[in-house]
Amino acid sequence: MTDNKSLTVVLASRNRKKIGEMADLLAPLGIRLLGVADFPEVPEVVEDGSTFAENAAKKASQTALATGHWAIGEDSGLMVDALQGRPGIYSARYSDPGATDERNNLKLQDELAGVPDERRGAGYVCSVVLADPTGAIRVTAEDRCRGRIISEPRGTNGFGYDPYFLIREYHQTFGELNSAVKQRLSHRARAFAKFIPEMMRLLRDS
Ligand code: IMP
Repeated sequence: MTDNKSLTVVLASRNRKKIGEMADLLAPLGIRLLGVADFPEVPEVVEDGSTFAENAAKKASQTALATGHWAIGEDSGLMVDALQGRPGIYSARYSDPGATDERNNLKLQDELAGVPDERRGAGYVCSVVLADPTGAIRVTAEDRCRGRIISEPRGTNGFGYDPYFLIREYHQTFGELNSAVKQRLSHRARAFAKFIPEMMRLLRDS
């Protein structure tokens, strides 16, 4: 890496929990991760893509152009089998445009009422994209994490749908599992495991 600027990467997100999870993944590699909230002049990115990957690319590219730094765009969500993949790319605003985690989870439970355990399979999906300071897309990666949606919340860790997302192998939800375990198993961790070596190679050469 040539200067201090290349050690700073901006994450195109205002979700503090998400930024925290990713900053933990990147800190050991010497990457200082900033959120877009650290750049008040950066406009809100409109998430109007039709896939997680399209939205992630748009966030990365626009944030890189607006800040002049390398930028990571991440788009993630929950795809529920019995709901034909919904809420999918609309996970953050599933219940209504100003959704809260609580209202999103209420809607999810409403839609899954009467669906038996064995048909409550679901997957979290995460797409992650790196743009260079000119806005050009340089790395894309995607992965998922399978689980099952339970009907009563368990645990207070994580965010979003985590208290309802049961990891079968652990018999615990992401709300119950500690963050170190989530950092190994999650869709975000898996997508990042593919993404980080590519990103580090590019940053080192920049
Ligand atoms: P995004 O910020 O547009 O990518 O929206 C992602 C949404 O998907 C979040 O607001 C959550 O509702 C959901 N989501 C994504 N990743 C997670 C996770 O790790 N735990 C819980 N919910 C998640």
